[in-house]
Amino acid sequence: MTNYSFSLLTGDTGPLVKGTRPDCLRIPIHAHKPILASGDQVLSGTKIAEAKADGHGDLHSPLAGTIREVDSFSMRIEVTGNTRTDSETPPGDSGESLSRWLHNLGINVSRFRRAQTLIINAVPPEPGISIYEPLLRDYRKTLELGLDTVERMVEPTKIFLVAAKGNRANAFANCTVMHVAPTYPNGLDQLVIKAVTGRETLPGATPENTVLLSVSDLYLIGRVMETGRPATETVMTIDGQNLLVRIGTPVGFLVAEAGGSVQPGDRVVLGGLMRGIPALNLEQGVGRDSTGLHVVRKGEGLESTDNFCLGCGECERHCPARIMPGMISRCAEFKHFARAETFHVHSCIECGICGYWCKAQRPLLQYIRLAKFEIALLRTATSPAKEPEKEKDSDKCPEKTDD
Ligand code: SF4
Ligand code: SF4
Repeated sequence: MTNYSFSLLTGDTGPLVKGTRPDCLRIPIHAHKPILASGDQVLSGTKIAEAKADGHGDLHSPLAGTIREVDSFSMRIEVTGNTRTDSETPPGDSGESLSRWLHNLGINVSRFRRAQTLIINAVPPEPGISIYEPLLRDYRKTLELGLDTVERMVEPTKIFLVAAKGNRANAFANCTVMHVAPTYPNGLDQLVIKAVTGRETLPGATPENTVLLSVSDLYLIGRVMETGRPATETVMTIDGQNLLVRIGTPVGFLVAEAGGSVQPGDRVVLGGLMRGIPALNLEQGVGRDSTGLHVVRKGEGLESTDNFCLGCGECERHCPARIMPGMISRCAEFKHFARAETFHVHSCIECGICGYWCKAQRPLLQYIRLAKFEIALLRTATSPAKEPEKEKDSDKCPEKTDD
């Protein structure tokens, strides 16, 4: 990790490849309310869960099979085939019915409000993730259809395509291309918004009159419009290869598909190496927001410790949100979570740069996430937490026999 590259240059990547079919899916449903139960049969495209809140579309099964288990976090489906539900015809208008139709087919439409500025983020979110490159090169028609659909709902007067300087990014019609330096964390949404509008916003927020989407978002919307079928896939970079992966595909299956293996002590990281989250086990399924997968070999990653903060200020010097990660980490370490708010913990865009530079190798991003989580619990807690469910043998996916 000491010679980690912060470059966001992707070079020429190969085509987007469709991932092979797993025998078992474990679909994350923590943001959804399941509408089917264990024992129910599903087809590819059957709706399995409804979004509980804004920020998500409904969920559908990517493959046909039988639901074997449903808990608060995931739905396990034993796959038997690829028989599909019928495709639907998109509504002709551009208003509420189109938005509702897209939501029903899995698209997060909560961002689509009337706005003057539409920003398309084509900057890789993290080093080693190149998912936008093949989409911009090989799927122009799908992206244009996605953009046309979004334009019908947002009605922007200005459209910006923001790319890392040196990466491929041909403009769409009526669209201005902007370049940012190809260095992490310039691809994170808050920094892209700042590059275009000059305004700083809290994570998850956009300035009034501005809507931001990624190239992957446009692609998924375009595919739903093209096919009339639900969005059940995500685009991921795995070991340098860009794959179209069915949501719920177990991470162990994807590692094996990429020709890799996981040894005791290795960590499988979902997302990039700066801000990704280790998978709990090899049966965990990828979600809609998964953009990459990395195996960190035992002893190769940066080993964080509970060393004391040295007060050196190195983390502050690199923080793009201009806050004090060292102070926030101390609040979290000593369980003074509410005090972390006085140090603007909610301004943190979770880039992880502070932890990389920390002289004491403290797990700063993890402390910050803990503080945010505990503050949210303090605000919303109304009943004692439930005992976490233990993993059962039935959690495990059957061994793969063929594709
Ligand atoms: S992760 Fe660290 S460096 Fe990044 S915004 Fe948050 S506090 Fe700042
Ligand atoms: S870089 Fe690490 S040791 Fe230095 S002030 Fe920040 S948290 Fe403390």
